[in-house]
Amino acid sequence: MQIKHSETLKKKDDKYIWHAMRPYQPEATMVIEQGEGAWITDIEGNRYLDGMSGLWCVNVGYGREELAQAAYEQLKQLSYYPMTHSHVSAIRLAEKLNEWLGGQDEYVFFFSNSGSEANETAFKIARQYHKQRGEHDRYKFVARYRAYHGNTMAALAATGQAQRKYRYEPLGTGFLHVTPPDLYRGPGLEAAEELEKVLAWELPETVAAVIMEPIITGGGIIMPPDDYLQAVREICDRYGVLLIIDEVICGFGRTGERFGFMHYGIKPDIISMAKGITSAYIPLSATAVKREIYEAFKGADNYEYFRHVNTFGGHPGACAVAVRNLEIMEEERLVERSRELGERMLNDLKGLEETHPYVGNVRGKGLLVGIELVQDKETKAPLGVEQVNKVIAACKKRGLIITKNGDTVAGYNNVIALAPPLSITDDDYAFIVEVLKEGLAEIG
Ligand code: PMP
Repeated sequence: MQIKHSETLKKKDDKYIWHAMRPYQPEATMVIEQGEGAWITDIEGNRYLDGMSGLWCVNVGYGREELAQAAYEQLKQLSYYPMTHSHVSAIRLAEKLNEWLGGQDEYVFFFSNSGSEANETAFKIARQYHKQRGEHDRYKFVARYRAYHGNTMAALAATGQAQRKYRYEPLGTGFLHVTPPDLYRGPGLEAAEELEKVLAWELPETVAAVIMEPIITGGGIIMPPDDYLQAVREICDRYGVLLIIDEVICGFGRTGERFGFMHYGIKPDIISMAKGITSAYIPLSATAVKREIYEAFKGADNYEYFRHVNTFGGHPGACAVAVRNLEIMEEERLVERSRELGERMLNDLKGLEETHPYVGNVRGKGLLVGIELVQDKETKAPLGVEQVNKVIAACKKRGLIITKNGDTVAGYNNVIALAPPLSITDDDYAFIVEVLKEGLAEIG
């Protein structure tokens, strides 16, 4: 009976659903029915520890009744009102986000529904901000190769992964790219020098903003030198260029700080947030904007205010879930937990760089961990994707979901990524490490 039910669902799925970001592979599609803590269960009853928190987003884990309750209570009281005005739930969330950013009233918040939209909003604010101040030539954005910033025409233009882009070009215009630093393969701090050169060559007074993640996530968990972001901040300040930090993945405890940039002692001008803001119980994103930028829009006449709206952004139900989600993170000290478990995981896996023939580099911050697989530790030639897939399949067979990413521009995908819920138990942790080691041993 159970099997029959699942077969019917799979057939319907195959017939009606166009899946995101996957080649046509109906036999490999999991149809998930339930989630509890770090674990998901498919319609055939197979259980997996979700080592990727969905798409790096279920920070507090699955199945929290309190979050369902928060949405229910809010929807009963006020199901919707647009953010052209305001509502209590959005005000509470803005106040909570202000606390998470240090409680200094430095930022105001524009709400949207997805990380891509948070970035689009950031780009539009940056361009208009300069115009409000009479700097009409500043329209360009500098982003970095290997990073992902979203699927919309400008967020994809900011993305530095050609394989994701070339079929959809031309995209939003004015986006340039520089090399990111990469502690394992290089460059190091020279990457900041490259940024400065590009700004100079482009005429800095034509550049509106630089956008980057604190740590490149989807491009392969690429670690910067500790002083890189500070150098970038100084360069941006020198040339009057805004610094947009994309915290869509790194935010909300993923890296063991409330936000990724907090590791590096800088303050962004604009911060994009999504995913962990609600732990993906419901869609929501935010663009945090420095108060001085916001002030530049004040007193603008009819045509000069920020002419940007989305129907669902800042939805009351989503804001209520976000507030409760952030309270849960505070109550359970999940940011600290992420930091502690991340350190433990690096300790437990770092030895593989010596003992495993193909583990070139183990890295990360908090529960954002990358394991780069190479054929040769001297040349660092990436391990072929078939071998990487073997590890992923071996882990899945044992009940652990992990993924791979890497330098898709160069055509390889040799970094195993791990980003489990920050709420994993000690047993979950032990399971992840054990299964990972077994999975890696299959190619050893
Ligand atoms: N920025 C980063 C760093 C991301 O990882 C993502 C999504 N993976 C986005 C932006 C876009 O977010 P969304 O898919 O919610 O539009």
